[in-house]
Amino acid sequence: MPATERLYYQDSHLVEFEARVTDKTDRVSGWTAVTLDRTAFYPTGGGQPSDTGTLNGERVLECIDDEDNGVLHVIQGRAPEVGASVRGRIDWPRRLDHIQQHTGQHILSQAFVTLFSAPTRGFRVLHDVCEIDVELTNPTNELIERAVELANNVVWEDREITIKAATADEAAQLPLRKEPSRAGELRLIEIEGFDLTPCGGTHAYRTGEVGMIAVRTWERAKGLTRIEFAAGTRALADYRRANKTSRAVAALFSASRDDAAKLAARMVEENKDLHRRVRSLEEIAARVEADELLASISPSSAGMRVVSQIFDDRDAESLKRLALALISHPNTIALLGSRDKEAARLVFAKAADAPGNMNALMRDACETLDGRGGGKPDMAQGGGKNVAKLAQAIDAAAENLN
Ligand SMILES: [Zn+2]
Repeated sequence: MPATERLYYQDSHLVEFEARVTDKTDRVSGWTAVTLDRTAFYPTGGGQPSDTGTLNGERVLECIDDEDNGVLHVIQGRAPEVGASVRGRIDWPRRLDHIQQHTGQHILSQAFVTLFSAPTRGFRVLHDVCEIDVELTNPTNELIERAVELANNVVWEDREITIKAATADEAAQLPLRKEPSRAGELRLIEIEGFDLTPCGGTHAYRTGEVGMIAVRTWERAKGLTRIEFAAGTRALADYRRANKTSRAVAALFSASRDDAAKLAARMVEENKDLHRRVRSLEEIAARVEADELLASISPSSAGMRVVSQIFDDRDAESLKRLALALISHPNTIALLGSRDKEAARLVFAKAADAPGNMNALMRDACETLDGRGGGKPDMAQGGGKNVAKLAQAIDAAAENLN
């Protein structure tokens, strides 16, 4: 069976074509794949996703490169018979998107080579953006933006992009950006006066068709610099998302978009100050509350004061703060509990000169509450889910002090 003639090699902008079915196979997916004598469909490969479209009106979900056997067109629906003439149509918006991302990648990769002698080791077209892995040591925003600047200048100079054939020997004499990945005759893509590289993908006629190239973000990954970028319509879509986000943030400050980051940073700082002030006020409040609680109970004959108290919906942090304020008074023990619908919390604490082992008392109390807890002889925390037994747990601890 002769190999499929790949029409996209000659013309990346060919949308409709006629062909004959040369083979038909069932796929494990349940769909049928057909092979044609010629096709404009680009199959998945070289970091570029497959085209989609129709064959005689039936949906082509994906195209797979079966190397020498040709291009497999996976069809959802009724597949044509072997020998039948078919009319194929690729989804042009998807192809244009891939042309923009792929050609954009050629230009951006060459910009890193031109400026920093940094070759590209990997390329992927993802759902919203693209990634290239560049051998760029010490990446910074400034360095990467210099490459973006150069790449966009090449786009706006609207340079011609041509396809050339070369033998391996001829190619060996040429300044190719990357080593050919296959033997035999090579397909070279030349961006006028800028880039020459072997490639089997679909490219723009001229660089202007790429529109623009923008870098979203970058990170170090496996010894390389992974750069996330978008070209053409993806760059516009990404600009719209970014603009929407920054305007929404700016609206919170009733400020202009470009002032939003500065105002957000100031708010974070103010928030830290507020947190510090709230903490010191809470400590003052805990001391006042502790004094009031101590004033309401009478000391034992030995001068010891035991404060056992249950609160509703008080968090562990606040409970602990009150316990610490209580035991700053001599000969004082705090047996504090808090409850909500789901859980009971406990904090037991004692002043240095007061008797008792808070850790041991806490373990017993938590057993009563069906929970867990522990700590040190002078301070222990815990809790459990048996909220109804909270009072009983605290009373038992108070009794066991003696
Ligand atoms: Zn290419």
